[in-house]
Amino acid sequence: MPAPAQPGARSDRVGDDAVYAAVFAPDPDASSAPTALTDLTAARVLILNASFEPLHVCSVKRAVNLLMHDVVERVEDSRHVLRTPSTLFPVPSVVRLKRYVRRPHRQRVAFNRRNVFRRDDQRCQYCGERAHDLTLDHVVPRSRGGPTSWENVVACCRACNARKRDRTPEEARMALRRAPLAPVFMFTAAYGILPDVDPAWEAYLPRTR
Ligand SMILES: [Zn+2]
Repeated sequence: MPAPAQPGARSDRVGDDAVYAAVFAPDPDASSAPTALTDLTAARVLILNASFEPLHVCSVKRAVNLLMHDVVERVEDSRHVLRTPSTLFPVPSVVRLKRYVRRPHRQRVAFNRRNVFRRDDQRCQYCGERAHDLTLDHVVPRSRGGPTSWENVVACCRACNARKRDRTPEEARMALRRAPLAPVFMFTAAYGILPDVDPAWEAYLPRTR
């Protein structure tokens, strides 16, 4: 990995681009598959922007590389250490970019069942219960021309779904807990499911992951 340009070496933009390249380039060591926390080759390090906003997930190898190039600083260490012949190197769990970068582009969140459930925090949007048998409810029923969209589809438990039937929330006297909106960015939609999120990450990930 080339060392990122230093601020002022040419221009700040160049510096930003180099940081982007360092952070977002394909990471051959990163695995998107569910992995154990102890798997040091997998994608297990959370990269935060300088603003502490979560940006990306990378392999330990890349994170160590970014640390050595002084692109990031340690925020949280894992309980693991890498041994070199002469030193013990704590394996980072969360690192933070030393300079703020703008996202390369706005990630649009795909509209699908799984992402609607994530947006709605795996809760029925009528009764608020977390259910394992969530289904999708068209707020304005399809039979009334309600579209299948972020703004008209919510997570709904079977009981509420059966109660609401082909009615609007007003007709069924069932209030939505919040107005459904298209999420601008969802961390897990962009970077996959994090089945065993490192507890050290919790404080840095948005509520709607
Ligand atoms: Zn419900």
